[in-house]
Amino acid sequence: MQLETKSDERARRYNRTHRYLSLAGFLLSLAWLAALLFLGWSAGLRDVAWHVSARYSLALAVYLLLVFAGPKLLDLPLSFYAGYVIEHRYGLSNQTVAGWAKDRAKSVVLGGALSLAAAELVYALIRRQPEWWWLLAWAAFLLCVVLLANLAPVLLFPLFYKFQPLADEELKQRLLRLSERAGARVRGVFEWKLSEKSRKANAALAGWGNTRRIILSDTLLAQCTPDEIEAVLAHELAHQVHHHIGKSLMLQAIASLAGFWLADRALRTFGSHPRLGFRGMADFANLPLLLLLAAVLSLLLLPAVNAISRHFERQADDYALRAIPDVGPFVSSMEKLAAQNLAERRPNRVIEFIFHSHPSMEKRIRRAAAHGETT
Ligand SMILES: [Zn+2]
Repeated sequence: MQLETKSDERARRYNRTHRYLSLAGFLLSLAWLAALLFLGWSAGLRDVAWHVSARYSLALAVYLLLVFAGPKLLDLPLSFYAGYVIEHRYGLSNQTVAGWAKDRAKSVVLGGALSLAAAELVYALIRRQPEWWWLLAWAAFLLCVVLLANLAPVLLFPLFYKFQPLADEELKQRLLRLSERAGARVRGVFEWKLSEKSRKANAALAGWGNTRRIILSDTLLAQCTPDEIEAVLAHELAHQVHHHIGKSLMLQAIASLAGFWLADRALRTFGSHPRLGFRGMADFANLPLLLLLAAVLSLLLLPAVNAISRHFERQADDYALRAIPDVGPFVSSMEKLAAQNLAERRPNRVIEFIFHSHPSMEKRIRRAAAHGETT
């Protein structure tokens, strides 16, 4: 039996705290949606909104403000504790309170604007195309997801972080050789200035189509040797070789089609329910019903989504191990990333199954070692 080290225990506590906090946030939002629905608050706030404006789209905007401004404010202490206090307590963040607040404000405004646009579109479709709104809304949703996947690295990420093309010539040459062997073209490798805010390290394949790129945090570049960075690059390149972003979009398309169809069923069944105070499908007071459905569905799908993600990660690891000459740097890069990010090396099996998008470090390292023995 292996003894648990002090750093293992620290990582376990850190991750457990974050899990509890996100669980608390999730339960609070479920409780709020349920209260809106079953205590008649949603219908009451709808009446207030109609009082403010007799125009449908404006009344809907007022309703959204009434329903979500309060919870967003109440959520502030929880998100400050999770995003600032805990991160500082574990020495993982460099952010000032002002910096944190600025980022938070940006994401609330961005999220608010996107949610408003989505709600306006969905209810406009329900009013004009009550038979087929769900199919049209799904098509619009899909278009937005693809557009966001494409635009995120050039439009959204720069709102929060600075990026610059990777300067290191030697690394660029190594990547070029890797991608030539893979037969996959890399559109760019960018250094992600994460160190201004965080001590964590990260790497990712981001974007879709013409914005597809590999991003590497400066914190990772500072910690790892060129051989280790090559191993990380090979892993990210593998996501591209296996078209993992396109495949994820496809899966999202299928799941969301089912989701929109179910939303239509729910609106037809409960949309005019007198005890809930609804006045038909196009009554936006039924929005909490749709949100509750979405929350429950995404919770139910979470283990499947993560199982698919872990499968993709294993594929990417296997590819990386074949692409690099030696497993040593792969293993040591894993060790360094785990230490830098306070990752749990051996999470509880049930927790891993439900919540983890990547296989545990221990499993990834064991798989690499097995690969090393067979070659
Ligand atoms: Zn990956």
